[in-house]
Amino acid sequence: MNRTPVVVGNWKMHGSRAANASLISGVLSGVAPRGQRSAEVVVCPPFVYLADLATMLEQAGVGLGAQDVCTEAGQGAFTGEVSAPMLRDVGCTHVIIGHSERRAYYAETDEGVGRKTLAALSAALTPIICVGELLEERDAGLTYEVVGRQLEAVLRALEADPIGLSGLNRCIVAYEPVWAIGTGRTATPEQAQDVHAFIRGLIQSRDARIGGSVRVLYGGSVKPGNARELFGMPDVDGGLIGGASLKAEDFVAIVAATQ
Ligand code: PEP
Repeated sequence: MNRTPVVVGNWKMHGSRAANASLISGVLSGVAPRGQRSAEVVVCPPFVYLADLATMLEQAGVGLGAQDVCTEAGQGAFTGEVSAPMLRDVGCTHVIIGHSERRAYYAETDEGVGRKTLAALSAALTPIICVGELLEERDAGLTYEVVGRQLEAVLRALEADPIGLSGLNRCIVAYEPVWAIGTGRTATPEQAQDVHAFIRGLIQSRDARIGGSVRVLYGGSVKPGNARELFGMPDVDGGLIGGASLKAEDFVAIVAATQ
């Protein structure tokens, strides 16, 4: 199955107008021009900078993602929240959902991740759905159980909605072992491949075609020095990049490692 690789930069809570302008110009001058790129590239700045960057990225054929979205699809009394249609309105194409930092610090639940996925799909955004186990869960042999539970919640939400399981065709899954995020400790390519194959297998058990075509990204201390090996694994379709996406040179090298 030929799946176009994707590299997503998650800037987390970093940036300023000046820093973003220089980071984006470094990224755009380093990646191959639109149409000649073999990977999709997406950057996810904090909410307040999305609109600033939308036109430039659209012209360059680079996706624009938010780092979270409200579970509620429309407008209403949800102070502090940003809805999927609003993200779409300012030019977003993608949205990260269920990042482990949201799960750990902001009480994001599996069920909430399912609802956010539906909200994003309804607004024609591509959800980048994050799953991954804690170190103690891996050590206790619970990796598949945890990742399976997180993913099942999304599959159930899709199946219970008119969107249906086929909505997964418009999603990207990111496997991010929590112990590898921002720690400098990367999963080995074999550890990543094992869990990616499990994720694909779980989806294939519901629908073989969707399971074969859904992109599954690896995230967790991906750097220019380890990206090629990770992306070379059969079920790793690119990466979700945190720290290294803040340095244009590193991010560009990681995009190049998909080739
Ligand atoms: C992330 O933020 O999703 C991430 C994987 O971070 P890092 O690359 O810094 O580990």
